[in-house]
Formats: sequence, structure tokens, C-alpha cells
Amino acid sequence: MSKISLIKEDITKVHADAIVNAANSALLGGGGVDGAIHRVAGPGLPRECRKIGGCPTGEARITGGYNLPAKFVIHTVGPVWSGRAAEREDALLAGCYRNSLALAYENGVRTIAFPSISTGAYRFPVERASKIAVREIREFLDSHPGMEKVIIVCFGDEVFRAYEEALK
Ligand code: ADP
Repeated sequence: MSKISLIKEDITKVHADAIVNAANSALLGGGGVDGAIHRVAGPGLPRECRKIGGCPTGEARITGGYNLPAKFVIHTVGPVWSGRAAEREDALLAGCYRNSLALAYENGVRTIAFPSISTGAYRFPVERASKIAVREIREFLDSHPGMEKVIIVCFGDEVFRAYEEALK
């Protein structure tokens, strides 16, 4: 059985030890998945995020999950796609997955759900992003047999199909 699963769902409803937020570098909430996570988590989340004070692109920070079913939120900041520095943008996106998984694992997380980082408002091409995501998740699982489950949560059919293809 594969430790990677692909679902169509609202990530705020997912029961996992942690869910990952596609945050912005201020960690102060925003639109898309970030807005949804903040709405459901409630006011404790922005309070904790303010104390952290921000997060550079490609890195990750951890907070509690507050009113979410998940115990933790891992906030990671994806690159904004310009296509003018594609290799650098690829590396930053890979860093989001790697650093989120490592930080989660250090905090005892064994089941974790990711949204499709950077492919919404940050315009990263989803086919390209899905290949990077799947590669990084597989590498992490290979080197961390204790990680039990990574769920890729897709919002929309196009995103789902891209990840389905990347997993083949
Ligand atoms: P980014 O700024 O990193 O591009 P977005 O939130 O704009 O982040 O989009 C990232 C992905 O998250 C998109 O595929 C978007 O459709 C998806 N998304 C938006 N809301 C949710 C949600 N509640 N659960 C899961 N995925 C979501």
C-alpha cells in the first residue's frame, strides 16, 4: 500500500496530525487555502503566527491547529512563479515540501496533508509543481520510514489530474 494518497477535499476538513498551509511570508493570513485555514482555525492561529513574525520563501514554521481537526499547521511559503528564474523557483518549491516534512516529523507528526502549494494565486504551473511535490514526498518517505501517510489534497479536477499523472 502506498503511503501517498490523493484526495479531492477541503484541507480544513482533513483529519491528519498536521495540515500544511500555503502561507505568505508575513504569515498573517490571506486568500485561497490560507484564508480557509485561518477561518476554520479561529483567532488563536493569527495570534501565534504574529509571534513567529514571518517566514522566508521555501521555509516552514509550525503552529497549533486550534479549531481544525489537525493538531498542527505547518506554514510554508511557496515561490511566486515568474518563469524567469524557473530553476530557482523549482528549488524553492522543493524546499517547501522538504522543510515542511522535516519540521513536521521532528514534532512527532506521522500523518500530514498538503495542498497544491504555489499553484493558485502564486501561478506555478500545476503539472510542473506536481512533479516536484511527488518527487520530494517520495524521497522523504524513503528516508523516513516512520512517516506513515502523506495526503495530497486537491481542490478541483485539473489539479487532481495533474497529481494523478505525477504519481504514475
Ligand atoms: P498559493 O498562493 O500558494 O498559490 P492558493 O491558496 O492560492 O496558494 O492555491 C493553492 C492551491 O490550494 C490551489 O490549487 C487552490 O485551488 C487550493 N485550495 C484553495 N482552497 C483550498 C482548500 N480549502 N483546501 C485545499 N486546497 C485549497
